[in-house]
Formats: sequence, C-alpha cells, structure tokens
Amino acid sequence: MFADVLLPVPLPGLFTYAVPAALDAVAQAGRRVQVPFGTKKSATGLIVRRHNEPPTDPKVVVKDIMDVLDASPVILPEQYKLWQWISDYYLCAIGEVFKAALPAKLKQLKDKRSKMKDSQTQATLNSQFSIFNFQFSTLPSLSPAQSAALSDIHRQWEQKPVCLLHGVTSSGKTELYIHLIAEALARGEQVLYLLPEIVLTTQLTNRLKAVFGERLGVYHSKFTDKDRVDVWIRQLSAQPYDIIVGVRSSIFLPFQRLGLVIVDEEHEVNFKQQDPAPRYNARNVAILMASRAGARTLLGTATPSFESYFNARTGKYGLVTLRERFGQVQLPDVEIIDVRELRRKRLMQGPFSPQLLEAMRAALEAGEQVILFQNRRGFAPQVQCHICGWVPRCPHCDVPLTLHKRSGRMICHYCGYATEIPQQCPACETPDLRGHGYGTERIEDELARLFPQARLARMDLDTTRTRAAYEQILDDFAAGHTDILVGTQMVTKGLDFERVSIVGILSADTMLNQPDFRAYERAFQMMSQVSGRAGRRRQRGRVLLQTMEAQLPIIHQVVTNDFDTMYQELMSERREFSYPPFTRLVMVYFKHRSADLIESLSRDAALRLRSVFGSRVLGPDEPSVARIGGLHIRRLIIKMEPTLSFSKARQFLIQTRADLMAEHLYSSAHIYFDVDPL
Ligand code: ADP
Ligand code: ZN
Ligand code: ZN
Repeated sequence: MFADVLLPVPLPGLFTYAVPAALDAVAQAGRRVQVPFGTKKSATGLIVRRHNEPPTDPKVVVKDIMDVLDASPVILPEQYKLWQWISDYYLCAIGEVFKAALPAKLKQLKDKRSKMKDSQTQATLNSQFSIFNFQFSTLPSLSPAQSAALSDIHRQWEQKPVCLLHGVTSSGKTELYIHLIAEALARGEQVLYLLPEIVLTTQLTNRLKAVFGERLGVYHSKFTDKDRVDVWIRQLSAQPYDIIVGVRSSIFLPFQRLGLVIVDEEHEVNFKQQDPAPRYNARNVAILMASRAGARTLLGTATPSFESYFNARTGKYGLVTLRERFGQVQLPDVEIIDVRELRRKRLMQGPFSPQLLEAMRAALEAGEQVILFQNRRGFAPQVQCHICGWVPRCPHCDVPLTLHKRSGRMICHYCGYATEIPQQCPACETPDLRGHGYGTERIEDELARLFPQARLARMDLDTTRTRAAYEQILDDFAAGHTDILVGTQMVTKGLDFERVSIVGILSADTMLNQPDFRAYERAFQMMSQVSGRAGRRRQRGRVLLQTMEAQLPIIHQVVTNDFDTMYQELMSERREFSYPPFTRLVMVYFKHRSADLIESLSRDAALRLRSVFGSRVLGPDEPSVARIGGLHIRRLIIKMEPTLSFSKARQFLIQTRADLMAEHLYSSAHIYFDVDPL
C-alpha cells in the first residue's frame, strides 16, 4: 500500500511513500506522518490519499512512512480543497499553503491525543455554561437607523450571499455584527469574524465576550503556538467554539457548520499576506470559503476598498449604508492646515502648526485626549551630513537608514540591519550629521518639550513588539492615564475611546506621494479612519489635517467625508489606465544576488510572457526598493482583462517559470508570483 503525502515545502505536488504493514490500520488520510525527506531524517507531512499504484518510474525508490502522529484526521476534507484552491489561484505550491495553515506545533508535536481529551472535556463544560451565560445577557437595542440596516442586510442576503456594509465610523457596525452573530448561533451555525491584525484588541474581544462568553474563541498571530493548537484541536472536536474572532490566518481553521462570515475593516491591506507564499487575501478567501459552505458574508467598513465597492455598485454584492453615528454624534469637523503657507510665513514649530498646538492645549486643559498620527516610525527617516550631503544607506538594501535615537542606532526598515550613529561624517569628517524629517520618536521628543506636563505614549512597531506592551498602551489610554497618543497607522484603526476630542494628522503628504496607483485610495482610508477616532461619544470632535497640498481634491473629499466623489474620480483614472478593479494584476518577481543575472533573467521572462500576453506585460522595472537583503529585485506587471481566461493564464505562467528555472543559468534565481497584489 502507498500513501500520497503533502509536505510543507515549496515544491509542486505530493510525495509517495510506502505504508509498512504495522502502520496499515492507522496511516489514514488526514493524519500526520513522520517521513524521511531529502537530506532530512524526518519531516512532518499529511496523508492526502491511500492507494496501491506503485510509481511508474521503476528507478524511483519509495521510502517507508516512519510513524503516524494522529489517531484521527487533523483537517477536514473541505480544508484540503480550500488549500488546493489557494495554491491554484495564488500560484504557489500547496506545500506552502499547508505550512502556513497549520500552527507550527501541530506540525511537530508527536502526540496531543491525551491533551485533546482534556480540552474536549473542558470544552463541553465550558459550552454548557456558556449557553447558560448567553441566554441571561441581552443584546443592546438598536437605534432606528441600525435596525433598518439590519433588516436591509437580511433583504440583501436573500438575493446575494455577500453584502457590503458601508457605515461611517462609530455608526455601530460592531453592534450590528453582534446581532447577526446571535442570530447565526440561534440557528446552530458557526461564525468566523475576521479582523485585520491591529484591530484585534482586548477592547473588542471583551466587548464580544461580554455577550457570547465561552462560545467565543480568539485566534491571533501574537498568541503562543500552544494556544493556537488548542483552538485548532477544539474546532475539530464535538464542541467547537461557535464563534472564532481572528486575524487572516483564521481562515485556515476547521469549521464544521459555518453559517456566517464577517470581515470587519474589509478594506485593510493587511488581510493580504505579502511574504512568504501563499500570498493570499484573507478577505477574498473567506468569501470563497463562505460560498462553498453555503454561508453568508458581511463585509464591513467606513471606507470600502474600491474592489468591494465596485462589486456592490455593479450588483455582485448587496450594499447597505449607515450614514449616521450612533447617538446622533456628528462626524468630526476636519480643518485643512496649509503647511506650505505656514512655512513661508515661518510659523511652523517643527512638525506642528500653531492651530494644532492651540487645539491640543485647549483639549489638555479641558481634560480631553489627543491622538496624533504620523506614518513614520523612528526618530528621523534619513540622516544627512550638513556639510557634504552624505547620507548613510543600508549596505544590503537600496534605502537610507532610519535614525532611532532611543536605541542610539541607525536601522534599515527592510532587512533590520543596524549600526551605530557615527561621531562624524565618514565622507568629509565633519561632526555635523543631522536627522531629516520627523518620525514618531522625534514627535514624542518635541511634545515632551512643548507640553512638559502632558502624559505621552507612543504606539508604533517599536513600542508594540509584545502583545502585552501593545495592550498596556491601549489600556492606559482608555483609563485616561495618557493625554497624548502619538503613533503610526496603528492609531488609525478601530479604536473606540470616549475622551478623544482632537486628532492631528501631522503630514498627509507622505501618504499622497507614494508611487502606487492606490496611494490616494489608501490616504483617504487612513485619514478618514483616524478622523473617526475623534468625538465618538459626546461633543463633536475636531481633526486638524496638515498638508503641503491643501488644494488637492482628495484633501477636500476627506474634509467632507465624500467617499462617493472620491471613488468616482479615481475610478475614471483606473478605467483609463486599466487598473483594478477593471483588470486583474499579477506581479512576477525575480530575485538574485547578481544584478546582471537579474537583468537578463527578467528581460528573458518578459519576452517569453509577451509571446502570449502581448502588451499586457509591463516591465521589467525596479520596485521602489530595488535591492533588499543583498538580493536585486526586478518585477513584471501583467494586466489581465476580465474576459481573459485566468486558468489558462495561470498554466502559462507556471510553465514559463518552470522553463526558466530549468535553464542552468537561472536555476539559482528566485521567481515568484503575486496575484491581486496590494
Ligand atoms: P463602529 O464599529 O461603526 O465604528 P461601534 O459599534 O464601535 O461603531 O459603535 C460606536 C460606539 O457606540 C460604541 O462605543 C458602541 O458601544 C456604541 N453603540 C453603538 N450602537 C449602540 C447601541 N445600539 N446601543 C448602545 N451603544 C451603542
Ligand atoms: Zn560630510
Ligand atoms: Zn537593509
């Protein structure tokens, strides 16, 4: 007997092993096995199929399965089908999907069976209690606008399985989700509530736990692997969690009776996995998962992605709009601060306009809180010699080093390379190196100088390395122990605080000047989202939006929260230049240590792809950072119109890559695809 085994490696297909007689009874599909693989003594794989067809090539030596790790399957058949789909669509090996899907410990641990029994008993007990809990708590009653939206969602679902809820910030989208979840539970269905990483706060989970108690499981990338293994095993048991609240990887969990999928903040870029493969979009996979399970999907956001809004406007999805905030609180008053004008008059104080300083002062005096948004971490994005203009750059990447004053170092934000700050310029030996621009660290320093009495906190990648540190910053802010919170885009999302009256956007310009066709769409999203943190409960909040580009229409659309005009204007550009959602993009990346090789490889690839795709192939070009970690990068962009057969196109792409890799010259290069890149 033979077994086809899936291994967590970036190679296509399955690997055939022989099943020794002693393991015949236990070596069944869906269970993990230990097998010898390549130079490795043992690797953990998953049996996908049992059969009795020996390999056609008689030279192939079939090795034996060494051990079987599970007493029952660790995945459901439907999950394997989903992995296959992800591997096909996103042009990667199914082994890579397998590797991403299973928590690491589940891949290695020999035996969780006894533990499983424990957690099953635990689960049974918990769920009995929780049913009890769930029935004596009552749901908050909805406002008339919310009730109307709720019945509208149901109406849409009668026609279409996916509905987009476009609700302004603080309109009570989360309350609606809670009602929908309760209804799904009453029907005996399971719910997946998907959130982008940074919005998954204790604040939100507590809000849900208060209603659903122990029926709710959380799946978070910052949880320990053990916690994640426990959730996984429980989802396979007879008493799974009814609701999973989780980040993108929770689409990989087993669901036995999925009835509802909620994707909150559906526009968020970090639903898309960038690296490594599978480069999947969890929102899109979740929609697919729901449709296969016959479940309904609700996409919620205050600032829809163009893709989803387009689908809603063209009738593919249902659309429900909530235009008012809960409790009749007005949307914040957004003021444009013309930094160019203020600079000319020499009125800027570092990164602050006089208007912003004044507003902050008044807020602090009134005992209110302030959020400041600056989309750059570190002290200064660049260091420069004041005399000769020398700029320290990363030796491995094509980027300047960022100055981090707290750690006394200059750091590369792409590869992590770090070095001491030199005493003097290595080029001209003058001791006059200066930081240029403002990162969050420097803003914090300036605030300490300008507001010595205020209690400050900073929230960015550097201060939130651990989940505990992250929670602490939010808890302190919620408890009123912090007056001013400065941070990167982390402060723009999902936070619900009572006493924030002022939001300052320190510079809209870095967002607007990104070399990306989605730059304005993103800038609008970020600015509206961060504005939405202001004045959520009581009086109207104020947002001060500092920009050098005060005349741009996009700035005025943020002020008037005019999503539709913004959408229509930018969509006409998208149509004209054939960008998504009018086309589908596939990026082809090439990486290698040698600049010459990467140049010829990418040109060769472009020629071959053009033979079929013609002018749909753009490039090769250099991405905005053309060398990372010592590897040179080139890129081809393929724009495919909707009528082009994507499955044929995929076959050709896979074949072309295989042909290229088969050439001796290119075999050491790395070639990969990014489908629907964000
Ligand atoms: P959104 O998710 O749209 O940003 P939330 O659901 O967080 O909005 O609601 C904003 C605030 O208003 C929250 O503090 C929430 O508890 C409160 N809220 C919203 N709807 C209701 C309701 N029906 N009853 C009581 N409080 C509500
Ligand atoms: Zn110099
Ligand atoms: Zn680097």
